[in-house]
Amino acid sequence: MEYARYDSPTSHALEEVIGGLEGGQATVFASGMAAANAAMDLIPMGAVVVAPSTAYTGVALRLRELDGVGRIQLRVVDVDDTTTVVAACSGAQMLWLESPTNPLMQVADLPTCIRAAHANGALALVDNTFATPILQRPLSQGADIIMHSVTKALSGHSDLLLGALVSTDDAITEQIRTRRVLLGALPSAFDCYLALRGIRTLALRVDRAQTNAKVVTALLSEHAAVSKVRYPGFGTMAAIEIAQGADAADVVCANTKLWAYATSLGGVESLLERRRRWPLESETVPPDLIRLSFGIENADDLWLDLSQALNLVLPN
Ligand SMILES: *Cc1c(COP(=O)(O)O)cnc(C)c1O
Repeated sequence: MEYARYDSPTSHALEEVIGGLEGGQATVFASGMAAANAAMDLIPMGAVVVAPSTAYTGVALRLRELDGVGRIQLRVVDVDDTTTVVAACSGAQMLWLESPTNPLMQVADLPTCIRAAHANGALALVDNTFATPILQRPLSQGADIIMHSVTKALSGHSDLLLGALVSTDDAITEQIRTRRVLLGALPSAFDCYLALRGIRTLALRVDRAQTNAKVVTALLSEHAAVSKVRYPGFGTMAAIEIAQGADAADVVCANTKLWAYATSLGGVESLLERRRRWPLESETVPPDLIRLSFGIENADDLWLDLSQALNLVLPN
């Protein structure tokens, strides 16, 4: 270690663990957005970037900003519309995927989309924050770069900010490492230590939270206050839409006791949030949509709490 901005023994230890989970070489960053920005720095000037129409808000805003100043040319697609994604890859230099997407829970056909990117000489990046490497390993499906907000499920306790990029390509990893040094985006050793502690229980937490998600979303689809359940059948994230509209969704969020009304996701505590309460959230997100992040509590407790809040807004 020559200088504290370059790396630390603890950041190395965390990189070994995340790299091992994803099957590549990891580089950790001070946040998921710092990792995203480093990856965006790899895009050639003026290049065409194919990205999800609805994605993590910070990533979507940043890509739109880069498009606005002419740094990139953005093509947005619904990632679950494989034919459109494949067609959009023509002439592109980067395919930026999220799957499942935040918060619409759209799932991409990763191997087909990545093949289309490669057929055009484009790099394929997958934000694997929602699925985690326990449930999805996009490097094994051909992706060039994996992005993580380690802040979320990998750390698992909603008490730090951290990001990561993972690649199997030495040249890409070298560029990523240089970006981190020059952007000054190394995470603190203490946050790396906390993330290492959190990752020890990742498999157990994902297993329990996924079971909770399956049990509770099945019950939610039978509840009269819920007009739509968005759950891809795997993972710890879901979204519901409320029959009586956005104001009713706010009533639901304000009346749970076990579920906390909060942003963020992937922690041991279950969280819910009406996403459109944020003015910057994409208008493609329905106003009455509530995002659910399942934690590791008891499934019956989660259902009882959520269903009593939903009972307050039953259609007449
Ligand atoms: C939270 C999140 C990010 C951004 O990560 P930060 O650690 O908050 O900077 C990016 N992508 C997804 C899918 C996220 O959930």
